[in-house]
Amino acid sequence: MKNLKFEELNLSDEILKAIGNKGYEEATPIQAQSIPYIMEGRDIIGQAQTGTGKTAAFGIPILEKLNQGEKTVQGIVLCPTRELAIQVAEEIRELAKFKRGVEVLPIYGGQPIDRQIKALKRKPQIIVGTPGRVMDHMNRGTLKIDKVRMVVLDEADEMLDMGFIDDIVTILKVVPEERQTMLFSATMPKPILELTKRFQKDPKHVMVVHKELTVPKVEQVYFEVKEKTKLEVLSRLIDMYNPKLSLVFCNTKRKVDELVAELQGRGYFADGLHGDMKQVQRDRVMSKFRSGAVDVLVATDVAARGIDVDDIEAVFNYDLPQDEEDYVHRIGRTARAGRGGRAFTFVVGREIFKLRDIQRYAKAKITLQKAPSSEDVEEVRTNLFLDKVIEIMDEDDLSQYVSIIERLAGEDYTSIEIAAALLKMAVGNKDKEVQHEETDFNDTGAEDGMVRLFINIGRNQKIRPGDIVGGIAGETGIPGKLIGSIDIYDKYTFVEVPREYAGDVIRIMKDNQIKGRRINIEPANAKH
Ligand code: ADP
Ligand code: MG
Repeated sequence: MKNLKFEELNLSDEILKAIGNKGYEEATPIQAQSIPYIMEGRDIIGQAQTGTGKTAAFGIPILEKLNQGEKTVQGIVLCPTRELAIQVAEEIRELAKFKRGVEVLPIYGGQPIDRQIKALKRKPQIIVGTPGRVMDHMNRGTLKIDKVRMVVLDEADEMLDMGFIDDIVTILKVVPEERQTMLFSATMPKPILELTKRFQKDPKHVMVVHKELTVPKVEQVYFEVKEKTKLEVLSRLIDMYNPKLSLVFCNTKRKVDELVAELQGRGYFADGLHGDMKQVQRDRVMSKFRSGAVDVLVATDVAARGIDVDDIEAVFNYDLPQDEEDYVHRIGRTARAGRGGRAFTFVVGREIFKLRDIQRYAKAKITLQKAPSSEDVEEVRTNLFLDKVIEIMDEDDLSQYVSIIERLAGEDYTSIEIAAALLKMAVGNKDKEVQHEETDFNDTGAEDGMVRLFINIGRNQKIRPGDIVGGIAGETGIPGKLIGSIDIYDKYTFVEVPREYAGDVIRIMKDNQIKGRRINIEPANAKH
């Protein structure tokens, strides 16, 4: 699928400016295909994998179709979790940045209802909410939806998984008939198709499918990182493997500029390439990269298209690509002309699902690796350095330096100590340790890879498994299907969650509520 420029989509200057501000270069396929239909007023079923930009696919046309002067709720977006509601509202708000007087409000469970009621009185035009909380406000009469003209069911498959179907049906029945109904989902199970039959009018089904591609033979690994540790991990990997040339991919122009500045600040010969640059500028950067004067090139997918340089020994997915096909294109930039190559991919939190999609699509083996510690870097660098030392001792005339060392060695130092100090200066790692936020959990009696948590409510409080899944998934944003076994006793409950989320789950759920009850939550003891 050919990507489109946003300029080709007949958008207003305000929106184009906001898109430019966000650093998006091209519309993703789902955006390019959905936006024109939504602008026409058609109902739509948009199907594309996570991370493909579905939010802007409906956010942009909703903003374009909004009546800015009218202070009533005109658009409602339903999302499965509070985290998504916040994210989606934020993205729409940013897209609306240059549209005057547009208010976007997220409403979700867990936030004090009074505060939301107050915010609703300010008459936002777009509401982004979880179905339960939206219904709650409708019932209280604090949210009037009789003027709503556009409804979005976002991540519809997840909303169904989480048992929101009845709420969704109730809401859709109340929204005026002459509305536009948009449904976005990564998958289209039967209940969703039934929902579309019942509530949509002649919907246009837009599906982003992928063509098969050959995947180059490249060693592919990924690292689970935090956004703020990416730079450190990238630096370490470059130091460690010392690739002749590296190509680093970011998803936006802004990210490219930021990362180039950060890398240059750390002393790397880095430069950037993106769609905003003039052809002369690009040519200049490319010729420096070819000659090795720049050995770390940071680029967007668009700008990197057509780069054909043989000595790229490493490709970094600093941002996970938007699209599975992009992944294959990216890693195909290395290991050219029969040379070896490595591809390193950074994955943050939920992006692991997206990586699994990529893996399936690319039929690639992408293995998890631990981010290198400063000791790992130091060890590899020391070995490389010592190789060079041996080479110099074998080949060069060192007499001039020998006399200096002899002089120093006469003053209370051994030549071993002097050599050690020089080695430390040459390769010693002065950088700070990457901060690991992940807490170690002792054995909690859970399955491998999971942590068992204790929650102080149970059967006596009429707690059912759905309450636990809904509560945790809704508050923390982890997909319900990742939550493992649940054992409910009279006064307490055990629930298993994936190890990498356990810390976040505890932090967010602590003193939070499940079924209206304030809970305590902590790692379980193995012997329970
Ligand atoms: P989805 O809903 O399909 O999972 P999102 O709408 O959450 O995807 O978008 C995923 C990420 O991609 C977000 O960080 C978003 O800002 C970014 N994004 C969206 N559209 C574009 C684009 N055209 N170019 C670059 N990045 C984009
Ligand atoms: Mg989404």
